Amino acid sequence: MQNYVFQIDSNKQPLDMVHPARARKLQSQQKAKTFRTYPYVLINSNCFETANTKEYILKIDPGATWTGFAIQCGQDIVFRMELKHRGQLIKESLTKRAGFRRSRRTRKLRYRPKRFNRSKPQGWLAPSLRHRLDTTETWIKRFMSWCPIQTIEIELVRFDLQKLDNPEISGQEYQQGTLFGYEVREYLLEKWGRQCVYCGATNTPLQIEHIKAKANGGSDRIGNLTLACEHCNIAKGTQDVRDFLQHKPNLLKKILTNAPKPLASASAVNSTRFAIVKRAKQLCSDVKCWSGGRTKHNRVNLGLLKSHSIDAACVGESAAEINLLTEQPLIVLCKGHGTRQAVRCNASGFPALDKSGQPIKPKIIYRHCCAGDLVKFRLDKDRKAAIAGVYTARVKTPTKNGFEVKLNGLRVSQNIKFLERFIHRNDGYDYLFTV
Ligand SMILES: [Zn+2]
Repeated sequence: MQNYVFQIDSNKQPLDMVHPARARKLQSQQKAKTFRTYPYVLINSNCFETANTKEYILKIDPGATWTGFAIQCGQDIVFRMELKHRGQLIKESLTKRAGFRRSRRTRKLRYRPKRFNRSKPQGWLAPSLRHRLDTTETWIKRFMSWCPIQTIEIELVRFDLQKLDNPEISGQEYQQGTLFGYEVREYLLEKWGRQCVYCGATNTPLQIEHIKAKANGGSDRIGNLTLACEHCNIAKGTQDVRDFLQHKPNLLKKILTNAPKPLASASAVNSTRFAIVKRAKQLCSDVKCWSGGRTKHNRVNLGLLKSHSIDAACVGESAAEINLLTEQPLIVLCKGHGTRQAVRCNASGFPALDKSGQPIKPKIIYRHCCAGDLVKFRLDKDRKAAIAGVYTARVKTPTKNGFEVKLNGLRVSQNIKFLERFIHRNDGYDYLFTV
């Protein structure tokens, strides 16, 4: 069954959520109207006073890429949502911008050593992590404005980064890292058998090599390092090790088993976990935190499959006996609000020019619609992507006379006169029911 429908009164105060069938009836009797489509919110014009009878719990399972949300009423899970963050994209575009800026500003200057007395303010989080917090907070606020939520329950998971690396670790070993008693190079020589890991050369100077290249976000962590001769190091460059060794599957397997899993997502969750609770406490007086172990225990006992929103539904004590009333979580993808760059950059960090020598503007603004608007429109005739009919899609690019959308993976442009209506204007998210 679908998610229950949010309901607000004519003063926009939250009312009890309603069954989708009841929502359809209210609309056909002209008692309520659509306030918002994703997620579905009704505005009840017959109800002037907030009269709630039920208690709602908002449950959150914060993750590095996906955050699950579930709303519980009594023992029923009436609403599920999965939010996909775009932390990695933010990191990539900021790294790119910093690279342009650094090269542009230092290109014709003498070398200056790095300033040492710069500190970050307390509580500072990297933009990619702050984005996770901000979007989670936005959705808590939205739910609270549409639904009388009394309690927020959050899974407060802490990953033991050393344990992820070595499940057997205990006691004193925590203070004795991988490098205990070694220098980095000695350790690597010992670990990889004093030879080039890619070609097996022994009597040649070996260089420290990043298995996942630094340019692709690989870290300096000891697990990501290996030794290679200069020739192999240059040959591999920034390629993925899977591509570089695609013809040597055995060697690839050996390297991948020796290189531990990346910890970036686990540390992203670790560093934001208290901040999420802090923000939730500013919005709701009753915030409870639960361990990740309890979530798993509940999920296994109830015999449910793992998904982000089911994990959220299984958070906390109240999840011991729940009924999932919804089979279809709403999938929300963070898309951002475009760019603030006034002019696009070329490869050297200078303004990119078009054929006539004019700077290329990144965002062309047309009055009729903008990128990210959800439109319901008519395809007047058959196209390669889809047959004629009525479709709903997110605008990819506004064009001079209309808009361009993606249907079945292909770009389709349509004139604005075939627009039936805007479902809603760009709010930085895309909404789906299946990934
Ligand atoms: Zn080699």
